[in-house]
Amino acid sequence: MHFHVITLFSEVCEAYTSASILGRAQKTEKGKGAKVRGKKMTVSYYNPRDYATDKHHKVDERPYGGGPGMVMQALPILKAAEKAIGRKDRKKVKVLMMSPRGTTFDQAYAKKLAAKYTDVVIISGRYEGIDSRVKKILRAEEVSVGNYVLTGGELPALTIIDAVARHIPGVLGTYESLEDERVSSGEMYTRPEVLEYKKKKYKVPPVLMGGNHALIEAWREDQSKKR
Ligand code: SAH
Repeated sequence: MHFHVITLFSEVCEAYTSASILGRAQKTEKGKGAKVRGKKMTVSYYNPRDYATDKHHKVDERPYGGGPGMVMQALPILKAAEKAIGRKDRKKVKVLMMSPRGTTFDQAYAKKLAAKYTDVVIISGRYEGIDSRVKKILRAEEVSVGNYVLTGGELPALTIIDAVARHIPGVLGTYESLEDERVSSGEMYTRPEVLEYKKKKYKVPPVLMGGNHALIEAWREDQSKKR
């Protein structure tokens, strides 16, 4: 899977995508013995400013019809997207435009993206948003990460990359688990068995200490339903 992020603030995103599991997924790794783990994904960044044609690399303008703030211009974004899409088969490329008005992103959407596409282009807006012609020209889908307004599309882009990456085979190692049916697991505990904090003792539920796997599974099932 290749993610292409069009953003004015790639350094913000790169810090996140190069760490931990996402960082590892972008590397070829030598494992135990002669085992080699191949690269599972790539993340590329494109700055619309690099595709602006005027000498000040301007990418925003005042909105037609008036109103507050600035709107990101279409052309620099379209050129960045052209670079990202290249000559790839458009049926395998999904273009997403981050927008608080879009389809709400969820686990099912993440799974679908991982299964259907080789490339996901994520357009991240700033200021008041992006000239609407970008959506039409690129046949992009507007996607929202939730019913609130952020100052930019970088966190939404990262949210999508992170959630989709977990569905790419091999991205999660043996120590991280992909919950297939449940969106998330229930309560969890690790050492110590009795946690002392400010003179009070907090114990781990006894069922988890008993070693009866059928009971533990049943308890976990119950826990995840409660949430
Ligand atoms: N005035 C705009 C908000 C712009 S917010 C409006 O009313 O729609 C600036 C940018 O942040 C947007 O272009 C979008 O890319 C991103 N953004 C903000 N909130 C978001 C959300 N909930 N989901 C996805 N992207 C969001």
